[in-house]
Amino acid sequence: MATTAPQGNTHGTLLGHPKGLFILFFAEMWERFSYYGMRALLVLYLTKHFLMSDEQSGYVYGAYTSLVYITPVVGGWLADHYLGQRKAVLFGGILIAIGHLLLGVEGGGGQDAVALNAFWTALAFIIVGTGFLKANISAIVGQLYPRDDVRRDPAYTIFYMGINLGGILGPIACGILGETVGWSWGFGAAAAGMLLGIVVFVLGKPLLLGKGEPAQPEVLTERVVGPLTREWIIYGGAVLSVLGVAWLVGNHDAVGWLLIACGVLTVPYLLWEAFARMERIDRDRMLAALFLLALNPLFWGLFEQAGSSLNLFTDRHVDRHILGWEVPASVFQSVNSMFVVLLAPMFAGLWVWLGKRGREPSTPAKFGLALIQVGLGFLALVWGAHWAGLDNPTPVFFIFVIYALHTMGELCLSPVGLSAMSKLSLPRMLGLMMGVWFLATAAGDFIAGLIAANIGAKSAASADPALATLEVYSSVGWFGIVVGGLVVLVAPFVKRLMHLDKLKEA
Ligand code: GLN
Repeated sequence: MATTAPQGNTHGTLLGHPKGLFILFFAEMWERFSYYGMRALLVLYLTKHFLMSDEQSGYVYGAYTSLVYITPVVGGWLADHYLGQRKAVLFGGILIAIGHLLLGVEGGGGQDAVALNAFWTALAFIIVGTGFLKANISAIVGQLYPRDDVRRDPAYTIFYMGINLGGILGPIACGILGETVGWSWGFGAAAAGMLLGIVVFVLGKPLLLGKGEPAQPEVLTERVVGPLTREWIIYGGAVLSVLGVAWLVGNHDAVGWLLIACGVLTVPYLLWEAFARMERIDRDRMLAALFLLALNPLFWGLFEQAGSSLNLFTDRHVDRHILGWEVPASVFQSVNSMFVVLLAPMFAGLWVWLGKRGREPSTPAKFGLALIQVGLGFLALVWGAHWAGLDNPTPVFFIFVIYALHTMGELCLSPVGLSAMSKLSLPRMLGLMMGVWFLATAAGDFIAGLIAANIGAKSAASADPALATLEVYSSVGWFGIVVGGLVVLVAPFVKRLMHLDKLKEA
């Protein structure tokens, strides 16, 4: 079992937290720097360098971001059962850095077969690497604290700031380099970020106080095939899986089938657990969790236009001049993270303030509000573009408005949803439910790809591509508002299924 090293005594604390938290903070900050830096460039690279249509690039974006959230389920399982989280994070970081380096192989542009294959392989390295890194680094955060430690929630808030600091810096650095100096410079900056993250993580190992180590190291060092230990077989298997994943990123339909297969396996299984094996209260909670899980893909499906169709819209139809400088479109990908850093403390305070007055919205109501806000964000942009007149570029102000509303939605759903999963699931199913939450996010990213591809196809067929995009934004905006409104209406019933009063007594 985990060691019982004294909490922070041997190495001291920083801001009242074990110093290890800040190692994880900076390691994850650099990982997200690379992820969001590269994501900011992705569709621009696909459309301008590989000359893919908007439709095709929407599919690739959807498949890539979807796979990035499917693999943590496997990576989390492998870490829990064999590797331990620390080794998994380190291995994942190395794969991610290889992926970003490989993206530097630009080739001559157009549909250059060698460069395209290098590109699919690079994306697959990042996807598999993220599978090992993302969920596991978050798990080590929790392991630094005893179960009942009140600093646990603040620790995750600090960690989330690290994520978004990376989300701010990545698109700025990689975006400016990639769009103004050369694509491979942007991807190179992403690789450098991930390498810095690895350095921080390796040097900071003593501060992790022995947490996240394998539960049974002897199982890991056991030789299974010839001289090969189980640990090396896992690493080798992961590297081999890159080939399959590389095929998947380029075959959007297959990712769709994979998600459907996951859904067909998990939803009936969870319903069977609920109806065949649970008492009434736990069954109700599972139904409430399934309700929230079903909304998750709708939210991310709309939100994740950010890096795809909204990125292209910003590039082509927005007046990006700020203080006389024409800001590259990719740089605006950092605005969401800026708003998270700015607004997250306000939201946390708002929930406490409302809670004290007995007026804090329930979790399902917050999900409804999230959908309404993401919908309003789209309508604000549509309205702004029409107000400026479609013959003119849209004022950049409206890009800030859409991201502000989308971020407010994110803050009503993302942290709230994770905490709801941990509250609503039986302890024996917690890992599975977290995995299913990520799968639902993956489904959302897939839907986002479909919407972006649809926008691409409509724009290509239309005499006015900006208008075609805005028409779809208007439809999805109203969809978000109507569904969100309905969710707010049924929220009191779902809240009752959560049996929160009993949770406090337990
Ligand atoms: N922005 C957060 C992160 O990168 C959450 C993203 C998500 O859940 N889709 O970790």
